[in-house]
Formats: sequence, C-alpha cells, structure tokens
Amino acid sequence: MKYVAPSSVEEAASLLSSSPSAQVFAGATDVVPQIRAGRPAPDVLVDLKKIKELVALNSDGDKWTVGAATPTAYLTEDEAFSHEFPGLSEAAGLIGSDQIQNRSSLGGNLCNASPAADSVPAMVVNGVRAVVAGPNGTRVLDVSEVVTGPGQTALDDDEFIVEFEIDKMPSRSGDAYLRMIPRTEMDIAVVGAGARVTLADDGSIEQAVLALGAVAPTVVRIPDAEQALVGSTADEETLNAVAAAASEACDPIDDKRGTVEYRKQVAGVLAKRAVVIAIERAEQRNGTN
Ligand SMILES: Cc1cc2nc3c(=O)[nH]c(=O)nc-3n(C[C@H](O)[C@H](O)[C@H](O)COP(=O)(O)OP(=O)(O)OC[C@H]3O[C@@H](n4cnc5c(N)ncnc54)[C@H](O)[C@@H]3O)c2cc1C
Repeated sequence: MKYVAPSSVEEAASLLSSSPSAQVFAGATDVVPQIRAGRPAPDVLVDLKKIKELVALNSDGDKWTVGAATPTAYLTEDEAFSHEFPGLSEAAGLIGSDQIQNRSSLGGNLCNASPAADSVPAMVVNGVRAVVAGPNGTRVLDVSEVVTGPGQTALDDDEFIVEFEIDKMPSRSGDAYLRMIPRTEMDIAVVGAGARVTLADDGSIEQAVLALGAVAPTVVRIPDAEQALVGSTADEETLNAVAAAASEACDPIDDKRGTVEYRKQVAGVLAKRAVVIAIERAEQRNGTN
C-alpha cells in the first residue's frame, strides 16, 4: 500500500484516477479501523489533509464553506458557526471523543456511508451541498443524494468531495440534532433525529425539515411530519402527529443496540424533541443575530 499526500485538488484527482483501488481519506478514523479489521487495503491511500482548501471553515456572509477534510472539532469550536447552526455543530460534537474530532471530517462521516453517521441527518435538514471533484471538473450534489446504501455512495471511484456549502441560516430559523445511544458516549446511534424550522411572523411554522438516521439504510426524511408542522404552532396534537409519522417512516433493523419496535418508538420521541428545540432556537434568531 502506497501513501500519498497531494497538495492540490487536481493532484488528488489525478492520483485517484491512477489506480482502480486508490482511495482518499481524511481523518482515517473509519479507514484505519476497517483495514485493521480485515477489509482489503487499497493500492494507493490519498491523504486529503494536506490540501489547504479541504481543511478550512469560512463564511462569505451568504454561505459557509466547510472543507471536506476539516476536523469536525472546528464546527464545535467556531463560535459563529455553532451559534448559527447549533444542531449541526452538536452533531459534529457527538462523533467519538475529542481525539476523534481532531481528525474526523464531514467528508469521511458522509462517505463512510454508515446509516448511523451523526452529522448526516443534521446536514440533510440544513440543505447542505457537496462539491464533488473528478477527472472532468466539479459537480454539486445535495448531501441527501450522496449516500445510496450502507457503505455505498453516488460518487464514481475517481471522485471525491472537496467541500460542503451551507447557505446562511435565515432569520427566525433554528436547527437541532439529537441521538439515542445505549451508553453515555462513544457509541453508535440507535436513532438520530435532525430538525430545522423557520417561523412566520405570527409564530406559526412556515417551513420544517425532519430527517432520521440509523433507522433505515440511508437517512430518512419525514414528509408527513413536515406537512403536519407547516402552518401549526406545534401544539401537543401536532407534535404527537410528528412522532407517529417519524415512527412510521422508519425501516430499521433488529440488532444488539435495539429492536425494530424500540427504534421506531425512540424515533418518534426524538423527532418530537428535536422539533421543540429547533423552534426554541428559531424564536431566539429574530433577524438581528
Ligand atoms: C472510537 C470511534 C468513535 C466513533 N464515534 C462516532 C460517532 O459517535 N458518530 C459517528 O457518526 N461516527 C463515529 N465514528 C466514525 C468516524 O469517526 C466518523 O465517521 C468520522 O466522521 C469519519 O471521518 P474521517 O475523516 O476520519 O473519515 P476517513 O476514515 O478518512 O474516511 C471514511 C470514508 O470516507 C471516504 N472519504 C473520506 N473523505 C472523503 C472525501 N472528501 N470524499 C470522498 N470520500 C471520502 C474514505 O475513502 C472512507 O471510505 C467513530 C470512530 C471511532 C474510531
């Protein structure tokens, strides 16, 4: 196995095309444990962390740009980012431990394509876009389009994500991400729930986006819950409808962390709680902050 550390996107793209089994990595917090566990090692491992624009967090006022190999710790430590996107920041802050977060990236969390990846529901509710580089230039995909199944993505073998684009959070909007794990930390989500809402001037919900992780092969949106919320003030009856729609949207597996029935129930509870937190945050973002 050969290790290479290109310093430009073009060089990385060319290295990735050089061998059918070349593979990019960022933090290697998934790649190294997988190789150690017996997964076939690639011929060429392409380290993305030496490419400057891939390890950067910037805002131009209209949108945030997060380099695909940026340590997820940046998303929790940057006060402006975590103030604007507390749900996405908290999701990043749930990945492993401080040591893991100093290495782990959004690009790796997404492209490892684990159904339980914590940042993905939070990215989906925020409409995050992935800028993908390949031999013929770049293309843009919604994050919701990237993962096609466990361990599978829509990227070609010679493509990789350069950066994520996140439009500025509108006023009177807020996001939230909650997960349930059997232990208090360092465990994989039994269920993850992301929510984002935008409020109208009268306090009712104008827009709602809800997404669940770990309850199906890929992240699941909950259109019935979103429709129930729009136009409402999230009264108890509406929140119960959200919980019911979330449970119904699940297609989970039985494993040692939880049964199908348990996961469905927890999905309902977490979806409801995430909505309530997102609303509280939206009420605080009144356009002046
Ligand atoms: C102890 C421990 C605890 C963990 N806890 C959590 C947790 O709580 N929640 C959670 O979600 N995950 C957890 N993880 C998994 C892992 O840390 C995350 O998935 C992390 O975000 C992966 O990022 P990375 O940069 O290290 O990925 P890497 O290991 O570098 O890469 C992962 C995969 O993505 C591909 N890849 C990486 N970057 C790109 C790119 N830019 N474009 C295309 N493909 C790319 C790689 O080829 C590889 O297939 C844990 C891991 C460990 C070891």
